[in-house]
Amino acid sequence: MQTRKLYYEDSYAHTFQGKVVATRPDWLALDQTVFYPEGGGQPADYGWLNDQPVTDTQIDEQGLIWHRVELAAAVGDTVEGRIDWLRRFDHMQQHTGQHVLSQVCCQLFQAETVGFHLGEQVVTIDLDVLDLTAADIRQAESLTNAVLRSKLPVRSLLVESEALPVEALRKLPQVEQNIRIVAIEGFDLCPCGGTHVRDLGEIGLLKILGSEKKRGHLRLSFVAGHRAYQDYALKHDLLTRLSALLSEPIENVAVAVERVQDKLTELERENKRLLEQVLVAEAQELAKSAVSLGPARYLVRELSERSLDDARFLASRLAQCDQMLVAFGLPGEPYRLVAAAGADTGVAVGPLLKAALAKYEGKGGGSPRAAQGAVASSNGPSALAQLEQDFIAALQARQSE
Ligand SMILES: [Zn+2]
Repeated sequence: MQTRKLYYEDSYAHTFQGKVVATRPDWLALDQTVFYPEGGGQPADYGWLNDQPVTDTQIDEQGLIWHRVELAAAVGDTVEGRIDWLRRFDHMQQHTGQHVLSQVCCQLFQAETVGFHLGEQVVTIDLDVLDLTAADIRQAESLTNAVLRSKLPVRSLLVESEALPVEALRKLPQVEQNIRIVAIEGFDLCPCGGTHVRDLGEIGLLKILGSEKKRGHLRLSFVAGHRAYQDYALKHDLLTRLSALLSEPIENVAVAVERVQDKLTELERENKRLLEQVLVAEAQELAKSAVSLGPARYLVRELSERSLDDARFLASRLAQCDQMLVAFGLPGEPYRLVAAAGADTGVAVGPLLKAALAKYEGKGGGSPRAAQGAVASSNGPSALAQLEQDFIAALQARQSE
């Protein structure tokens, strides 16, 4: 047997009584139902059977409609059913809105709708065109809303294939008998198994949210009815908050954000310049504490709470002094080492730092002039001390040449 589809007889019915005709764990099939089973791009209805929540509705190949519900009931029992009406009405608004938008795209661009998805947040249709301009999309949205304001009645009728008004149909049916046609009076005829509003005035508004190219088609996303109102309310609240934060009227918000971005870029540039000045002064101070060894000098020390960038800048700046070798340790996990050497020292810091770190299971290296690496924090001070020893040895070896 098949379940009698009460949602086709009256898509506004939201309560009913049905008899259990089959059961499976957590699922009941009824002789009749107002619950719409997932299909044709429209999600399943939710609701209650004997006040127990129904969390899914599906139709099987025999035409039996199954309700997922934790309810102990036996074949022959009568149950009281009620659908989540707000959810269903939302689906009716989105689905009927889709019919209007699809017909408008046919009329304006000869674009057929080849895909439809009614999502939790947005609805999408796929059009068999490669692209539409922003002006095209605005025109489609504007015409769709004009049609909605006309409040045309929407009816559905069952016809046999011989009686199909094929010429007038927006697309051909996928079934061969008992074909259900949804008619928006004088505007659109389309085979469809979904649930629809009784007239277009019940949708009120449709907003296209975006377009994207998908596998050779153009996908439009939109919201209709109450969803469109909620979307407007959300965006209005956001813009009102932005406008208050920027102390600008809503129409100036975008320009004001651009101004803030420009200001930020300018301040970042200025901040970088000032930081460099501070670091240059700091390098001059640090140079005073370098240790002399023959004609050369070396400076080895830990810098706490400094960034790697700062340490590298300081090291390279110090290495510009006459005959200077420099190494910094940055405590942390890992412990980082940064080293630099002036060309006039004749010492290559890359290999020295690599060797010092290798002794303590650290890694690093670099060029003769600049190097860096890292080691476990517990070994950091030892590795830095090792590098200092190696600096001294290298300078002494150079002196005795
Ligand atoms: Zn439909």
